Amino acid sequence: MKSENVREIKLRLKPAYDEHRAEFDAAIQGVLNRGQYILGEEVNAFEGEFSNYIGASYGVGVASGTDALILALKACGIKRGDEVITVPFTSVVTVVVIQSCGAKPFFVDVDDSCTIDINKLETFLKFNTSKKIKAILPVHLFGYAVNMEAITCLAKQYGLWVIEDCCQAHGAIFNNRRVGSWGDISAFSFYPTKNLGAFGDAGMVVTSNAQLSEKVRLLRQYGWKTKNISESPGINSRMDEVQAAILWVKLKYLDQDNRRRIRLAEIYHEGVNNTPVIKPGLFTDFRHVYHQYAIRSSCRDDLKEYLATQGISTQIHYPLPIHLQPAYRRKFDSYGGLDMSEKIAGEVLSLPIYPQMPIEEAEAVADVIKLWLSKYF
Ligand SMILES: *Cc1c(COP(=O)(O)O)cnc(C)c1O
Repeated sequence: MKSENVREIKLRLKPAYDEHRAEFDAAIQGVLNRGQYILGEEVNAFEGEFSNYIGASYGVGVASGTDALILALKACGIKRGDEVITVPFTSVVTVVVIQSCGAKPFFVDVDDSCTIDINKLETFLKFNTSKKIKAILPVHLFGYAVNMEAITCLAKQYGLWVIEDCCQAHGAIFNNRRVGSWGDISAFSFYPTKNLGAFGDAGMVVTSNAQLSEKVRLLRQYGWKTKNISESPGINSRMDEVQAAILWVKLKYLDQDNRRRIRLAEIYHEGVNNTPVIKPGLFTDFRHVYHQYAIRSSCRDDLKEYLATQGISTQIHYPLPIHLQPAYRRKFDSYGGLDMSEKIAGEVLSLPIYPQMPIEEAEAVADVIKLWLSKYF
Protein backbone atom coordinates (compact mmCIF):
# COMPACT_ATOMS: atom_id res chain seq x y z
CA MET A 1 0.00 0.00 0.00
CA LYS A 2 1.03 3.58 -0.61
CA SER A 3 2.06 5.63 2.37
CA GLU A 4 -0.46 8.09 3.70
CA ASN A 5 1.57 11.11 2.65
CA VAL A 6 -0.06 11.11 -0.80
CA ARG A 7 -1.47 14.56 -0.51
CA GLU A 8 -2.83 16.63 -3.32
CA ILE A 9 -2.67 20.38 -3.06
CA LYS A 10 -4.36 22.15 -5.96
CA LEU A 11 -6.98 24.70 -6.92
CA ARG A 12 -10.38 23.36 -5.88
CA LEU A 13 -13.71 24.89 -6.83
CA LYS A 14 -16.19 22.82 -4.88
CA PRO A 15 -15.24 24.18 -1.43
CA ALA A 16 -16.75 27.52 -2.53
CA TYR A 17 -20.07 25.78 -3.11
CA ASP A 18 -19.89 23.75 0.11
CA GLU A 19 -19.19 26.85 2.18
CA HIS A 20 -22.54 28.51 1.38
CA ARG A 21 -24.42 25.53 0.03
CA ALA A 22 -27.78 26.38 1.60
CA GLU A 23 -27.72 29.92 0.22
CA PHE A 24 -26.80 28.76 -3.28
CA ASP A 25 -29.41 26.03 -3.28
CA ALA A 26 -32.10 28.48 -2.19
CA ALA A 27 -31.05 31.02 -4.82
CA ILE A 28 -31.14 28.42 -7.58
CA GLN A 29 -34.47 27.03 -6.40
CA GLY A 30 -35.89 30.54 -6.41
CA VAL A 31 -34.98 31.01 -10.07
CA LEU A 32 -36.34 27.61 -11.07
CA ASN A 33 -39.61 28.33 -9.28
CA ARG A 34 -40.05 31.79 -10.76
CA GLY A 35 -39.86 30.40 -14.27
CA GLN A 36 -37.86 33.12 -15.98
CA TYR A 37 -34.44 31.86 -16.94
CA ILE A 38 -32.71 34.51 -19.08
CA LEU A 39 -32.33 38.27 -18.48
CA GLY A 40 -34.85 38.63 -15.69
CA GLU A 41 -35.01 40.17 -12.23
CA GLU A 42 -31.94 38.35 -10.92
CA VAL A 43 -29.78 39.69 -13.75
CA ASN A 44 -31.21 43.19 -13.30
CA ALA A 45 -30.56 43.14 -9.59
CA PHE A 46 -27.07 41.75 -9.95
CA GLU A 47 -26.16 44.31 -12.63
CA GLY A 48 -27.08 47.04 -10.14
CA GLU A 49 -25.33 45.42 -7.17
CA PHE A 50 -22.12 44.66 -9.01
CA SER A 51 -21.73 48.01 -10.77
CA ASN A 52 -22.44 49.70 -7.47
CA TYR A 53 -19.79 47.59 -5.74
CA ILE A 54 -17.27 48.56 -8.43
CA GLY A 55 -18.24 52.21 -8.17
CA ALA A 56 -19.73 52.67 -11.64
CA SER A 57 -23.22 53.61 -12.78
CA TYR A 58 -24.16 50.77 -15.13
CA GLY A 59 -23.63 47.06 -15.47
CA VAL A 60 -24.65 44.92 -18.43
CA GLY A 61 -24.65 41.18 -17.84
CA VAL A 62 -23.31 39.12 -20.73
CA ALA A 63 -22.36 35.52 -21.45
CA SER A 64 -18.61 35.65 -20.67
CA GLY A 65 -15.61 37.85 -20.03
CA THR A 66 -14.61 37.41 -23.65
CA ASP A 67 -17.95 38.79 -24.80
CA ALA A 68 -17.75 41.60 -22.25
CA LEU A 69 -14.45 42.71 -23.82
CA ILE A 70 -15.74 42.40 -27.39
CA LEU A 71 -18.90 44.37 -26.66
CA ALA A 72 -16.95 47.01 -24.73
CA LEU A 73 -14.56 47.49 -27.65
CA LYS A 74 -17.44 47.61 -30.13
CA ALA A 75 -19.34 50.13 -28.02
CA CYS A 76 -16.26 52.38 -28.23
CA GLY A 77 -16.40 52.01 -32.00
CA ILE A 78 -13.17 50.02 -32.34
CA LYS A 79 -13.14 48.63 -35.89
CA ARG A 80 -11.07 47.48 -38.84
CA GLY A 81 -7.94 49.57 -39.31
CA ASP A 82 -7.76 50.59 -35.65
CA GLU A 83 -5.06 49.60 -33.20
CA VAL A 84 -5.45 49.01 -29.48
CA ILE A 85 -2.49 49.28 -27.10
CA THR A 86 -2.12 46.27 -24.83
CA VAL A 87 0.51 43.87 -23.48
CA PRO A 88 1.77 40.60 -24.95
CA PHE A 89 2.00 38.98 -21.50
CA THR A 90 -1.65 38.17 -20.85
CA SER A 91 -4.31 35.63 -21.65
CA VAL A 92 -4.64 35.14 -25.40
CA VAL A 93 -8.22 36.34 -24.98
CA THR A 94 -7.00 39.94 -24.76
CA VAL A 95 -5.79 39.72 -28.36
CA VAL A 96 -8.62 37.54 -29.65
CA VAL A 97 -11.18 40.19 -28.67
CA ILE A 98 -9.30 43.02 -30.38
CA GLN A 99 -9.08 40.93 -33.53
CA SER A 100 -12.73 40.03 -33.45
CA CYS A 101 -13.51 43.74 -33.86
CA GLY A 102 -11.28 43.73 -36.95
CA ALA A 103 -8.64 45.79 -35.12
CA LYS A 104 -5.04 44.95 -34.23
CA PRO A 105 -3.24 44.94 -30.90
CA PHE A 106 -0.19 47.17 -30.54
CA PHE A 107 2.12 45.78 -27.89
CA VAL A 108 3.87 47.66 -25.11
CA ASP A 109 6.05 45.56 -22.82
CA VAL A 110 5.27 44.79 -19.18
CA ASP A 111 7.48 45.64 -16.20
CA ASP A 112 8.26 43.66 -13.04
CA SER A 113 4.63 43.91 -11.93
CA CYS A 114 3.64 41.74 -14.95
CA THR A 115 1.42 44.61 -16.12
CA ILE A 116 1.94 47.40 -18.66
CA ASP A 117 5.15 49.41 -18.31
CA ILE A 118 3.80 52.91 -17.77
CA ASN A 119 7.11 54.60 -18.60
CA LYS A 120 7.29 52.83 -21.93
CA LEU A 121 3.67 53.63 -22.67
CA GLU A 122 4.29 57.27 -21.92
CA THR A 123 7.39 57.48 -24.13
CA PHE A 124 5.65 55.65 -26.95
CA LEU A 125 2.66 58.00 -26.89
CA LYS A 126 4.91 61.05 -26.77
CA PHE A 127 6.51 60.17 -30.09
CA ASN A 128 3.67 58.29 -31.75
CA THR A 129 2.35 59.78 -34.97
CA SER A 130 0.06 56.92 -36.05
CA LYS A 131 -3.59 57.86 -36.13
CA LYS A 132 -4.57 54.19 -35.96
CA ILE A 133 -4.10 53.96 -32.19
CA LYS A 134 -7.57 54.39 -30.67
CA ALA A 135 -7.55 52.84 -27.23
CA ILE A 136 -5.54 51.49 -24.32
CA LEU A 137 -6.54 48.11 -22.93
CA PRO A 138 -4.77 47.61 -19.59
CA VAL A 139 -4.94 44.13 -18.07
CA HIS A 140 -4.97 43.89 -14.26
CA LEU A 141 -3.10 40.63 -14.53
CA PHE A 142 -3.15 38.14 -11.64
CA GLY A 143 -5.29 40.56 -9.64
CA TYR A 144 -2.81 43.43 -9.54
CA ALA A 145 -4.36 46.86 -10.07
CA VAL A 146 -2.57 48.77 -12.83
CA ASN A 147 -1.73 52.43 -12.09
CA MET A 148 -5.01 53.74 -13.52
CA GLU A 149 -4.23 57.31 -12.51
CA ALA A 150 -1.38 57.31 -15.02
CA ILE A 151 -3.33 55.41 -17.69
CA THR A 152 -6.41 57.64 -17.61
CA CYS A 153 -4.22 60.75 -17.56
CA LEU A 154 -2.30 59.61 -20.67
CA ALA A 155 -5.49 58.55 -22.42
CA LYS A 156 -7.01 61.97 -21.85
CA GLN A 157 -3.91 63.70 -23.11
CA TYR A 158 -3.86 61.67 -26.34
CA GLY A 159 -7.60 61.25 -26.87
CA LEU A 160 -7.73 57.47 -26.42
CA TRP A 161 -10.41 55.22 -25.00
CA VAL A 162 -9.58 53.19 -21.90
CA ILE A 163 -11.05 49.70 -21.82
CA GLU A 164 -10.08 47.84 -18.66
CA ASP A 165 -9.64 44.08 -18.66
CA CYS A 166 -10.69 43.34 -15.06
CA CYS A 167 -11.26 39.63 -15.62
CA GLN A 168 -8.70 38.73 -12.95
CA ALA A 169 -9.17 41.63 -10.56
CA HIS A 170 -12.65 41.76 -9.01
CA GLY A 171 -12.37 44.02 -5.99
CA ALA A 172 -8.81 45.22 -6.60
CA ILE A 173 -8.27 48.84 -5.59
CA PHE A 174 -5.98 51.55 -6.92
CA ASN A 175 -5.91 54.84 -4.98
CA ASN A 176 -9.16 54.15 -3.14
CA ARG A 177 -11.08 53.30 -6.30
CA ARG A 178 -11.83 49.84 -7.56
CA VAL A 179 -10.52 48.74 -10.92
CA GLY A 180 -13.33 48.83 -13.42
CA SER A 181 -14.38 52.31 -12.29
CA TRP A 182 -11.42 54.14 -13.86
CA GLY A 183 -11.68 53.50 -17.58
CA ASP A 184 -14.40 54.53 -20.03
CA ILE A 185 -15.65 50.98 -19.91
CA SER A 186 -14.55 47.72 -18.28
CA ALA A 187 -14.96 44.00 -18.70
CA PHE A 188 -15.34 41.33 -16.01
CA SER A 189 -15.43 37.56 -16.31
CA PHE A 190 -17.30 35.34 -13.86
CA TYR A 191 -15.68 32.12 -15.08
CA PRO A 192 -15.68 29.70 -12.12
CA THR A 193 -12.00 30.12 -11.21
CA LYS A 194 -12.10 33.93 -11.06
CA ASN A 195 -12.18 35.89 -7.78
CA LEU A 196 -15.91 36.25 -8.33
CA GLY A 197 -16.90 33.06 -10.11
CA ALA A 198 -20.23 31.63 -11.22
CA PHE A 199 -21.03 27.93 -11.56
CA GLY A 200 -20.87 28.32 -15.33
CA ASP A 201 -19.99 31.06 -17.81
CA ALA A 202 -20.94 34.71 -17.32
CA GLY A 203 -19.46 38.19 -17.66
CA MET A 204 -20.28 41.86 -17.26
CA VAL A 205 -19.55 45.18 -18.90
CA VAL A 206 -19.33 48.03 -16.41
CA THR A 207 -19.31 51.74 -17.23
CA SER A 208 -20.48 55.12 -15.97
CA ASN A 209 -21.11 56.35 -19.50
CA ALA A 210 -24.85 56.08 -20.26
CA GLN A 211 -24.33 56.02 -24.03
CA LEU A 212 -21.77 53.23 -23.88
CA SER A 213 -23.97 51.19 -21.57
CA GLU A 214 -26.93 51.59 -23.90
CA LYS A 215 -24.80 50.50 -26.86
CA VAL A 216 -23.69 47.35 -25.01
CA ARG A 217 -27.28 46.64 -23.98
CA LEU A 218 -28.35 46.70 -27.64
CA LEU A 219 -25.34 44.72 -28.83
CA ARG A 220 -25.93 41.90 -26.35
CA GLN A 221 -29.32 41.01 -27.80
CA TYR A 222 -29.70 41.57 -31.55
CA GLY A 223 -29.91 45.36 -31.21
CA TRP A 224 -33.31 45.05 -29.55
CA LYS A 225 -34.78 47.86 -27.49
CA THR A 226 -38.18 46.30 -28.04
CA LYS A 227 -38.45 42.58 -28.63
CA ASN A 228 -37.98 41.60 -32.28
CA ILE A 229 -37.19 45.17 -33.40
CA SER A 230 -33.48 45.65 -34.11
CA GLU A 231 -32.27 49.23 -33.74
CA SER A 232 -28.72 48.23 -34.63
CA PRO A 233 -26.75 45.06 -35.32
CA GLY A 234 -26.15 42.79 -32.36
CA ILE A 235 -25.47 39.29 -31.18
CA ASN A 236 -26.70 36.93 -28.50
CA SER A 237 -24.62 37.32 -25.38
CA ARG A 238 -27.06 37.10 -22.49
CA MET A 239 -26.53 36.31 -18.84
CA ASP A 240 -28.80 33.68 -17.37
CA GLU A 241 -30.82 34.00 -14.18
CA VAL A 242 -29.27 31.05 -12.36
CA GLN A 243 -25.74 32.47 -12.72
CA ALA A 244 -26.90 35.94 -11.67
CA ALA A 245 -28.57 34.50 -8.54
CA ILE A 246 -25.40 32.57 -7.65
CA LEU A 247 -23.20 35.60 -8.24
CA TRP A 248 -25.45 37.74 -6.09
CA VAL A 249 -24.86 35.36 -3.19
CA LYS A 250 -21.11 35.30 -3.86
CA LEU A 251 -20.72 39.07 -4.20
CA LYS A 252 -21.51 39.44 -0.48
CA TYR A 253 -18.40 37.41 0.31
CA LEU A 254 -16.05 38.88 -2.30
CA ASP A 255 -14.13 41.22 0.02
CA GLN A 256 -13.84 38.52 2.65
CA ASP A 257 -12.67 36.02 0.01
CA ASN A 258 -10.09 38.47 -1.33
CA ARG A 259 -8.86 39.01 2.22
CA ARG A 260 -8.33 35.26 2.53
CA ARG A 261 -6.36 35.28 -0.72
CA ILE A 262 -4.20 38.09 0.67
CA ARG A 263 -3.64 36.03 3.87
CA LEU A 264 -2.45 33.06 1.79
CA ALA A 265 -0.22 35.40 -0.23
CA GLU A 266 1.34 36.54 3.05
CA ILE A 267 2.23 32.95 3.89
CA TYR A 268 3.80 32.38 0.48
CA HIS A 269 5.55 35.70 0.73
CA GLU A 270 7.13 34.84 4.06
CA GLY A 271 7.97 31.36 2.83
CA VAL A 272 10.12 32.54 -0.06
CA ASN A 273 11.43 35.72 1.55
CA ASN A 274 15.21 36.19 1.19
CA THR A 275 15.56 33.44 -1.39
CA PRO A 276 16.46 33.54 -5.11
CA VAL A 277 12.77 33.04 -5.90
CA ILE A 278 11.18 36.31 -7.06
CA LYS A 279 7.84 36.93 -5.40
CA PRO A 280 5.05 39.29 -6.36
CA GLY A 281 4.73 42.38 -4.18
CA LEU A 282 2.79 41.97 -0.96
CA PHE A 283 -0.13 44.37 -0.81
CA THR A 284 -2.61 44.07 2.02
CA ASP A 285 -4.66 47.07 0.83
CA PHE A 286 -6.37 45.23 -2.08
CA ARG A 287 -4.00 46.74 -4.66
CA HIS A 288 -3.43 43.06 -5.41
CA VAL A 289 -6.21 40.51 -4.91
CA TYR A 290 -4.07 37.52 -5.89
CA HIS A 291 -6.20 35.87 -8.51
CA GLN A 292 -2.87 34.14 -9.02
CA TYR A 293 0.15 34.11 -6.78
CA ALA A 294 2.86 33.90 -9.42
CA ILE A 295 6.45 33.48 -8.31
CA ARG A 296 9.40 33.64 -10.69
CA SER A 297 12.48 31.46 -10.92
CA SER A 298 15.04 30.88 -13.65
CA CYS A 299 14.71 27.16 -12.73
CA ARG A 300 10.92 27.27 -13.00
CA ASP A 301 10.48 23.97 -14.85
CA ASP A 302 12.56 22.11 -12.31
CA LEU A 303 10.64 23.67 -9.42
CA LYS A 304 7.31 22.82 -11.05
CA GLU A 305 8.39 19.21 -11.44
CA TYR A 306 9.65 19.00 -7.88
CA LEU A 307 6.40 20.41 -6.52
CA ALA A 308 4.48 17.86 -8.60
CA THR A 309 6.43 14.98 -7.03
CA GLN A 310 5.30 16.38 -3.65
CA GLY A 311 1.64 16.38 -4.71
CA ILE A 312 1.43 20.11 -5.40
CA SER A 313 -0.16 21.21 -8.69
CA THR A 314 0.98 24.48 -10.19
CA GLN A 315 0.15 26.30 -13.41
CA ILE A 316 2.07 28.43 -15.85
CA HIS A 317 0.31 31.68 -16.72
CA TYR A 318 1.47 32.21 -19.44
CA PRO A 319 4.16 30.04 -21.03
CA LEU A 320 4.56 32.09 -24.23
CA PRO A 321 3.92 35.78 -24.74
CA ILE A 322 1.38 36.34 -27.48
CA HIS A 323 3.77 37.79 -30.06
CA LEU A 324 5.71 34.49 -29.99
CA GLN A 325 2.70 32.18 -30.30
CA PRO A 326 2.40 30.32 -33.61
CA ALA A 327 -0.87 32.01 -34.53
CA TYR A 328 0.48 35.53 -33.95
CA ARG A 329 4.21 35.54 -34.75
CA ARG A 330 5.30 38.72 -36.57
CA LYS A 331 1.68 39.77 -37.08
CA PHE A 332 1.58 42.84 -34.85
CA ASP A 333 3.64 45.93 -34.14
CA SER A 334 5.14 46.80 -30.82
CA TYR A 335 6.99 49.62 -29.13
CA GLY A 336 10.55 48.29 -29.26
CA GLY A 337 11.46 44.90 -27.85
CA LEU A 338 9.25 42.87 -25.57
CA ASP A 339 12.10 41.45 -23.52
CA MET A 340 10.46 41.58 -20.14
CA SER A 341 7.39 39.67 -21.36
CA GLU A 342 9.67 37.03 -22.88
CA LYS A 343 11.78 36.74 -19.74
CA ILE A 344 8.82 36.57 -17.38
CA ALA A 345 7.04 33.92 -19.47
CA GLY A 346 10.04 31.64 -18.96
CA GLU A 347 10.04 32.15 -15.20
CA VAL A 348 6.50 32.42 -13.83
CA LEU A 349 4.81 29.72 -11.80
CA SER A 350 1.36 30.09 -10.24
CA LEU A 351 1.04 28.44 -6.83
CA PRO A 352 -2.35 27.09 -5.73
CA ILE A 353 -4.54 29.80 -4.22
CA TYR A 354 -8.29 30.04 -3.55
CA PRO A 355 -10.23 31.52 -0.63
CA GLN A 356 -11.07 28.22 1.06
CA MET A 357 -7.54 26.83 0.75
CA PRO A 358 -6.42 25.64 4.20
CA ILE A 359 -3.62 27.77 5.69
CA GLU A 360 -1.66 24.57 6.45
CA GLU A 361 -1.66 23.71 2.75
CA ALA A 362 -0.10 27.05 1.86
CA GLU A 363 2.47 26.50 4.62
CA ALA A 364 3.19 23.05 3.21
CA VAL A 365 3.74 24.50 -0.27
CA ALA A 366 6.11 27.13 1.14
CA ASP A 367 8.02 24.41 3.03
CA VAL A 368 8.42 22.30 -0.10
CA ILE A 369 9.77 25.32 -2.01
CA LYS A 370 12.26 25.94 0.80
CA LEU A 371 13.32 22.30 0.66
CA TRP A 372 13.83 22.57 -3.09
CA LEU A 373 15.86 25.74 -2.62
CA SER A 374 18.07 24.09 -0.01
CA LYS A 375 18.84 21.28 -2.46
CA TYR A 376 19.81 23.45 -5.38
CA PHE A 377 21.04 26.78 -4.10
C1 LIG B 1 -10.65 34.88 -17.95
C2 LIG B 1 -10.12 36.02 -18.74
C3 LIG B 1 -10.79 36.53 -19.86
C4 LIG B 1 -11.99 35.88 -20.47
O1 LIG B 1 -13.01 35.57 -19.66
P1 LIG B 1 -14.02 34.34 -20.04
O2 LIG B 1 -15.15 34.53 -19.12
O3 LIG B 1 -13.26 33.08 -19.82
O4 LIG B 1 -14.42 34.53 -21.47
C5 LIG B 1 -10.27 37.66 -20.46
N1 LIG B 1 -9.14 38.24 -20.03
C6 LIG B 1 -8.44 37.76 -18.98
C7 LIG B 1 -7.20 38.46 -18.54
C8 LIG B 1 -8.91 36.63 -18.31
O5 LIG B 1 -8.21 36.14 -17.28
